[in-house]
Amino acid sequence: MSQLENKSQNSFPGEVHPVPGGDVVLTRLDDVINWARSNSLWPLTFATSCCGIELMSVASSKYDFSRFGFEVARASARQADVIIIAGTIVNKMAPVLKRLYDQMPDPKYVIAMGACAISGGPFFYNTYSVVKGADHVIPVDVYIAGCPPRPEALLNSLITLQQKIKSGYTREQIKAG
Ligand code: SF4
Repeated sequence: MSQLENKSQNSFPGEVHPVPGGDVVLTRLDDVINWARSNSLWPLTFATSCCGIELMSVASSKYDFSRFGFEVARASARQADVIIIAGTIVNKMAPVLKRLYDQMPDPKYVIAMGACAISGGPFFYNTYSVVKGADHVIPVDVYIAGCPPRPEALLNSLITLQQKIKSGYTREQIKAG
């Protein structure tokens, strides 16, 4: 099996057809774009409370999310295409989160990390100031349970997002249902 054929079966979207003198790859442009996009996601450096520590851990050498193409973390929303909501969103923060999301270029993706981002978590009851789920503010593509989720869970969510993108997932398609 040639190196190209082996790579094709593992990851590259398409079929390899051996011909005299080399190989011919048949694929679709959409599949190649989605494959490339899924392997070069740039996360926004954004964390609002304790889940942010686990997010930083995933970027460190022990877990090393650069293995999956996420290492180009950006401080500007205009240069990012993934926002990982790592922490509690309070009502005063909600308009800022919405503005950051609006500043990100399309296509853009959102991961809700931890109980606070999913539902308000331990602040769901008896707290007047916490948003009870980031999806009340912006659309969310992947949820990670936990308080906080372990770094492995965050890595798993990033891989899940990659798989969704490779499968041609767009938020518009989901809405159209
Ligand atoms: S889910 Fe738990 S660890 Fe994460 S921000 Fe909320 S309280 Fe902190």
